Amino acid sequence: MKTADLGEKYVMKTYSRFPLTFERGEGMYVYDENGKEYLDFVAGIAVNSLGHNHPKLVKAISEQAAKLIHISNLYYSRPQCTLAQKLVENGSLDKVFFCNSGAEAIESALKLARKYGSKTGRQEIITMHKSFHGRTFGAVTATGQDHYHEGFGDMLPNIKYATFNDFESVKNTVTENTVAILMEPVQGEGGIIPAKKEFLEQVRALCDEKDILLMFDEVQCGVGRLGTLFAYQTYGVVPDVMSTAKGIAGGVPCGLMMAKEKVAEAFVPGDHASTFGGNPLATAAGNVVVDELLGGLLDNVKEQGAYLREKLEEVSAKHKDLVKEVRGIGLMQGMELTEPAGDYIAKAIDMGLLLVGAGKYIIRFVPSLIVSKEDIDKAMEILDKALG
Ligand SMILES: *Cc1c(COP(=O)(O)O)cnc(C)c1O
Repeated sequence: MKTADLGEKYVMKTYSRFPLTFERGEGMYVYDENGKEYLDFVAGIAVNSLGHNHPKLVKAISEQAAKLIHISNLYYSRPQCTLAQKLVENGSLDKVFFCNSGAEAIESALKLARKYGSKTGRQEIITMHKSFHGRTFGAVTATGQDHYHEGFGDMLPNIKYATFNDFESVKNTVTENTVAILMEPVQGEGGIIPAKKEFLEQVRALCDEKDILLMFDEVQCGVGRLGTLFAYQTYGVVPDVMSTAKGIAGGVPCGLMMAKEKVAEAFVPGDHASTFGGNPLATAAGNVVVDELLGGLLDNVKEQGAYLREKLEEVSAKHKDLVKEVRGIGLMQGMELTEPAGDYIAKAIDMGLLLVGAGKYIIRFVPSLIVSKEDIDKAMEILDKALG
């Protein structure tokens, strides 16, 4: 049976997939089962930070697999502890909790906030409209978009929503029961919407004043995508808690949550756990990604991010009636169209460029962080044709 038919028959239908089956990848390119080549500007949805089959990543994973794949968190492992050290020493947060996905990294943050709030009897968490935080019950409740909630019954209590980039709305939503405010520094699924620096600064000041935790969801915009290791470093606004996942281990499932010491202390042994979290295989991969980022790749993100933006503006100037706006930071860019983006994305894929939407009208560009000028030129050529 053809792969797609097997999938149709045996895999639960939670995705509407393109009728494509991929077999292998190399750098910025992936190849389907017929050998057709695609330039990949999706990167597994901002996951393959080092592109496909990066030699250092492959080597680290192979060597670690031959030594020890998993050991549980009953014990220490070297890759987990060195990755934690790198993340702490290159940022402003003090402790790391490892898990396996974005949703789990958000769940960990929500639980940490509630535990922290239990000391003062506060448990309300404010999140933003148009946000996306994942699909588990806590994360999906935090997601400020009704259609993700419909049909699933009661959501988690004590989660309220405010308007992103609107400080008055946040301020007016805060009550005596508020313990944390959660947001994405750049909203991803909601349509590639960067926070305004002033907004983050105002929310930070409000949180300081009221002992409310500022929590960032950097699952998509973190791990170098904006040109700094952590998204908060691009803004110069330090959260108390930060969750990330997607790109951290270059495609090996890995998520993590970091916190300031005084917040992290709220968790004591037994409070929270993950069987697979931070296992040697995933964190060996995470070490390679962080080493590459700090070893010069962040400069490439800044350079290529600026180039991608410039080229997207050029393409949009050629399609004035169709393109409403280009926005984003670094290698997380979006192009908002005046028409639904789906057909244009399908055309680009047909022409050998993988793209993904973010909301109905937005084309998202989240290539691997190793992307070059030539890759961007080629992608823009195809995009131009797909739009025209
Ligand atoms: C993808 C994403 C998540 C959820 O991550 P999963 O690994 O799919 O659970 C959470 N927050 C943001 C901002 C995301 O982009």
